[in-house]
Formats: sequence, C-alpha cells, structure tokens
Amino acid sequence: MQVTKHNVVLINYTLKNDSGEVLDTSSGGDPLGYIHGIGNLIPGLENALEGKKKGDQLQVSIAPADAYGQKEAANIKAVPRNQFPDPNSLEVGMQFEADLGEGPRVFTITGLEDGEVMLDGNHPLAGETLHFSVEVLDIRKATAEEISHGHVHGHGGHHH
Ligand code: ZN
Repeated sequence: MQVTKHNVVLINYTLKNDSGEVLDTSSGGDPLGYIHGIGNLIPGLENALEGKKKGDQLQVSIAPADAYGQKEAANIKAVPRNQFPDPNSLEVGMQFEADLGEGPRVFTITGLEDGEVMLDGNHPLAGETLHFSVEVLDIRKATAEEISHGHVHGHGGHHH
C-alpha cells in the first residue's frame, strides 16, 4: 500500500529550521496520523510523502511557498491599547485569536507602546524554510466517517 489520496498515514517526524533547531517532533510522544490529500499537512510535505510505503524514511526541505508562506507586512497591525478588555495585563509574546476583519486568526503581541499594541498575524513559521525528517509507520484506507470529519480517528488521531 502506498501513500495516496484518502489513505490514513501514520508518521513520526522531526521539524527543524535553517539553523538546525528542533521546532517540533513526534519523538517521545504519539506518532501523527493524518488523511493524505485533503490538506491536513502543508503542501510540500504531502507532495514529498505521495507514493511512499510503510517503513520509508525521507528528508525534505520545504520552501515557504509550500509551507506557511511569506511574512506579510499587511498582517502586522497597530491596535489602540484601550480596545483590549484588560490592557494592563498585556505582554510581548502573548498570543490570542481575534478577527480584525479577515476572519479569525492567531495574533502575537510583538510590541507595546503607550497607546498602541503591535500585533503580528503571520503564522509563526511564515518565511521559514522547513526541514523535515519523516518515517512512514503505517498506511491504511480512511473510513468514510474519517473523510467526512477531515481527521483520523483512533491511533495518532482523534478519540471521540
Ligand atoms: Zn471525527
């Protein structure tokens, strides 16, 4: 069986940035289960996994265009501090979800001035080239229910 659309793929992975720093890994925890071909993973990683078999290992470097895109200046905004419910509790690095007119997204506070809060709505990995090591642990067909939910049930996925 190969990795192809609507198969459930169970992987172990480690993600590093250009400096070799580990950003994320399944090592030490549960492997990741995902449904191939429906956008569960970033496009560059799905493309690299297409056609792979159980036991295959791969190293892949993914440019921002096939990962989380470039950082865009339009996603960085200054918002008056008095628009926050608890303005004195704000700290640089805090993250929260807000809808500033383009749908909900996660913002990180990158600066605090007297009257203004600087918010960065870019994905934290935008602009980064991502380096993955991946091992394919298992492949099976997704059930109709998994496909309709858009996620894996059981091992490596949701329990509900
Ligand atoms: Zn479900």
